[in-house]
Amino acid sequence: MMPGVAYGAEASKVLSLLDLSRPGLEKVAAAHAAGNDSLAAVELLDYFRHRTDVNSIGVDPDNVKLSKTDRKWADDGLRHVFFVHNGYQPSYFYGDDINWQYWPVKDNELRWQLHRTKWWVPMGKVYRVTGDEKYAKEWAYQYRDWIVKNPLTQFDGIKDSNLEDADNVYFAWRPLEVCDRLEHQIEQFELFLPSEHFTPDFLLTFLDNYHRHATFANTHYSAKGNHLLFEAQRVIFAGAFFPEFREAAAWRKAGVDILNREIVKQVLPDGVQFELDPGYHKASINIFGKALQMMDANGYRGEFPQSYLDAVRKMVEFTYNISSPDYLQPLFSDNHLTTKNVMQRSYKEWLKLFPDDSALRYFATDGAEGTLPEYTSRAFTDGGFYVMRNGWTPDATVLVLKAGPKGEWHNQFDNGTFSLWHNGRDFFPDSGSYIYGGDSTVIAQRNWFRQTAVHNTLTLDNRNLENRVSKHIKWETTPQGDVAVVETPGYEGLTHRRAVFYVDKKFFVIADEATGTAKGDVAIHYQLLPCDPEVDYKNKSIVTNFPDGNNIILKVFGADKLTKEEGWMSQEYRKKEERPAFALSTEKKNDKPVRFITVIIPTDTLDAKPGKIKAHYTGPTSLVVEIDGKKYPLSF
Ligand code: MG
Repeated sequence: MMPGVAYGAEASKVLSLLDLSRPGLEKVAAAHAAGNDSLAAVELLDYFRHRTDVNSIGVDPDNVKLSKTDRKWADDGLRHVFFVHNGYQPSYFYGDDINWQYWPVKDNELRWQLHRTKWWVPMGKVYRVTGDEKYAKEWAYQYRDWIVKNPLTQFDGIKDSNLEDADNVYFAWRPLEVCDRLEHQIEQFELFLPSEHFTPDFLLTFLDNYHRHATFANTHYSAKGNHLLFEAQRVIFAGAFFPEFREAAAWRKAGVDILNREIVKQVLPDGVQFELDPGYHKASINIFGKALQMMDANGYRGEFPQSYLDAVRKMVEFTYNISSPDYLQPLFSDNHLTTKNVMQRSYKEWLKLFPDDSALRYFATDGAEGTLPEYTSRAFTDGGFYVMRNGWTPDATVLVLKAGPKGEWHNQFDNGTFSLWHNGRDFFPDSGSYIYGGDSTVIAQRNWFRQTAVHNTLTLDNRNLENRVSKHIKWETTPQGDVAVVETPGYEGLTHRRAVFYVDKKFFVIADEATGTAKGDVAIHYQLLPCDPEVDYKNKSIVTNFPDGNNIILKVFGADKLTKEEGWMSQEYRKKEERPAFALSTEKKNDKPVRFITVIIPTDTLDAKPGKIKAHYTGPTSLVVEIDGKKYPLSF
């Protein structure tokens, strides 16, 4: 304790939040009972420094691994250059006297995520590795500065649009940010606890602030979606890591109840999270898994039934099924590019929950242990994902067709789209999402990437789908090939039926039919990876020409014209790259259906030339494709 510092009311207020009858807190209770709260605070700090019956599952403070990024974020943080978002690099300077309301670009994420204070854990890690007190001193300073400048003022629930003139409280105290701090301040607490700057006085400030966060979080849950999951998991963390708070058991119970309720709502029977976004799907697995691990680590497995674990296991299976052999998933919806390392780390974490899952073990260890799944193709018909593959090794081919329910906020107008990975190359990468929400400029940028027409699917007059609910019609997989049929009544008066065949597990045929009374320009769109393909506008064929010979031929039948369109893809936030995109269209003038056939051939699986490919319908659900004289009759 620093001499001369009076704790007064603050100490008694904080002590009143704690259950002082808890074993280990005898000295704190005695000092408090004797009216000596300053001594109680000293004893409380001593208690936390020696507490051994509580565990966390985040950074291990005694075994810190420091990365270059940690070092940079920590050192930048010292001079108030705060890492907020990957999409805004280099990071901005927030002033010597920190301006927590600085908003250089009106992207909501930039303003919200400042309040996740992502550089504080790295500061703690550097402090632990170097022992340099300046990191602890600065953290304690910024921690108090944040509290003073971001008061919890009148708050009318969650506001996530029209934020341009909103009060600071809507950014600093958005429940998702509050809960982010709940989780990561546990790590900061552990990392900085031995510091001379972690004084008894600071401890009281910390506990008071943390308690306010947990109380707020537990009374301001988001209505639904992944935000609610994040919030529940983090309230569980608060209750598990600070069991000394009187409400700790209630926080744990509230969080567990929400996760048990939401896992049934948000995870479809086939294991797909209902936002239909591979990135949020993965984040949801982490949430469900971490909640379970945190409860386990502290002896409260709680009331997670077996069905909870079964659902998480299915979610994990979905992730490796839609992944290409490089461990990456299609960038459907708001997904962003990840890395093999990150995915492998996730698989390792998930393996702790399912040590008997031999395929998961294979992916977690990059093949050193475990075995690959015995099956290849697989459909997830509730979520509307159909995966056609000929294997799991790096030379495999993987097509993922997406046509499911409406999905939630992150889902796009993309029913019927697909990605196709062949031998290390993603030939039809999704356009991605580029950016989230903000002012009108930001929203316009976001909306470009959400359009139906910038996906590999069918449109009427290039418009966005009016109805985004697809129907599962058929799924069949055999060692000789696969077929998936889906139907999307996407527009008033127009239904799109798409059948995808993986013929002999060598090449793909897509049979599209647009039926109904609507008239207009019916087009199928194809978005290629950045390259300079050979395009035959007259014969409607496109051939990529990578010098390594790993190419595809695409040829379309039934289209009146082939036109080049604007094409972009964004794999990371606010980064985009131009790429070739095409529309193949036919004017629908009457009630007669418009039908297309697309043949896509990876050139190293079949010796084919565009001129030697023919195809025609033989009936409403049957067609014949001819390649180099060989006929392939197909039906569904
Ligand atoms: Mg997309």
